[in-house]
Amino acid sequence: MMNAELTAALETIRPELMTVTRLFGLPESIWDDTPRYIPAAEETGGNYRITFTDGSESATRTVPVPNDPDPRVQALHRRRAARRLCKQALYDLCRKTTGIHPPWGSMTGVRPTHLMNEALADGLSPEEAVDRLVRDFDVLRPKAELLAEIAAVQSALPAPGDGWMDVYIGIPFCPTRCAYCSFSSGEIGDGRLVAPYMASLAEEIRACAPMIAGTGRKLRALYIGGGTPTALPEKAFREMLSLVCEYFPGALETTVEAGRPDSLSRDKIRAVQEAGISRISINPQTMNDRTLRVIGRAHTAQQVRDAYAMAREEGVRHINMDVIAGLPGEGEADFRHTMDEAVSLHPESLTVHTLAIKRSSRMSLENAPLPDGMLTAHMVALGLEAARTLGMVPYYLYRQKYMAGNLENTGYALPGHACLYNVDMMEETSHILALGAGGISKRIWPEEGHITRAPNVSNITEYIARTGEMIRRKQELFLESIPS
Ligand code: SF4
Repeated sequence: MMNAELTAALETIRPELMTVTRLFGLPESIWDDTPRYIPAAEETGGNYRITFTDGSESATRTVPVPNDPDPRVQALHRRRAARRLCKQALYDLCRKTTGIHPPWGSMTGVRPTHLMNEALADGLSPEEAVDRLVRDFDVLRPKAELLAEIAAVQSALPAPGDGWMDVYIGIPFCPTRCAYCSFSSGEIGDGRLVAPYMASLAEEIRACAPMIAGTGRKLRALYIGGGTPTALPEKAFREMLSLVCEYFPGALETTVEAGRPDSLSRDKIRAVQEAGISRISINPQTMNDRTLRVIGRAHTAQQVRDAYAMAREEGVRHINMDVIAGLPGEGEADFRHTMDEAVSLHPESLTVHTLAIKRSSRMSLENAPLPDGMLTAHMVALGLEAARTLGMVPYYLYRQKYMAGNLENTGYALPGHACLYNVDMMEETSHILALGAGGISKRIWPEEGHITRAPNVSNITEYIARTGEMIRRKQELFLESIPS
């Protein structure tokens, strides 16, 4: 007879088990009416034991049943152990039957950097922490070593905490929509939404800015993103920058995304410089014109080169570059070309993304020929190589669902150029006051190990119509005490 707790765990973690089989590229249909993987579970001799079988092969895992004097803690620990065991046994079986070794092993639904930090907080040395991740999660050693390096870089950054707050300003307009985009930004089109949107944003900025000092905090990082803020017409862009800088002065770091080179002009770069912005992001994603057309970016590689040259002429000292590995139709030579160009453009920071096609993106509806997981992994390695050539170190890393090859996104930067906002966002270590459509404000509760959120609506017209409500959400989030 199956142990009741284990049986319950098996029934409730079906979605997590599906995540495990997805790591091996197995279709979701294997979980249909007659599942391919059959579990058997029992509690015997103080141990949980679970076996997954697929007919010819099987895998078994055993752990001691956790004990705790507090019955509630005991129940929680037992449930967790049972769930983890189920996932591990299934992982072992898939590894055996497919011969695939996923780069991040059995890590799912957890931030890899958190596991590294947890191991270091337990008093392990970086080498021991790497060993733990390799042993417990079957992570490839170079990936675990990357995490150890990131932890070391992050530990040297100005410490975040309750006394600081980051500010995010969302400008949800883009020149055109990229085929892989899953954000809620819209094409700027004839620009008729710009003026009402900016009026609402200004109202939200004026109402919310005093919350920082009002709650006894200081501004840490200011990030103007979207969308593509530089998609705004020059006058609106200048006005937005001067309003934001008036209400949020003194940040340790300020970023403006200028992601699409076709949205930049010399006047906008001058406005950025006059506003004292410390970092901009000009993102080719690929330096292959054919791919740029396929992914709907409506600019050329030459426009990227021109935008970098113009920014340098105007004295911009920190340019970040984003590229994507695994774009449709790209092979090794295409990605190598992009990285060679990246090296010759000398950005101060570089984020190598892996393509993730979410359901909300247009590309998921098309039959784009995508590079396979192995090729994408090779591209990611080329990205790391280019970052090293540029003298950069890795400083943040995150994974998302539906990433090609179950890989990761890694941010690299020259020493002293890590973006605090990116780290804060991924590590969830700082309060975030997020203004504009689609912004998600976060309040961290360091003592309680808790995070509360207040999302703004992402639809632009809804945001314009409900600005007052968005302001009240933030007031409730930051001015009220912790919900019980
Ligand atoms: S630039 Fe970014 S936000 Fe704009 S359409 Fe492309 S992916 Fe989406």
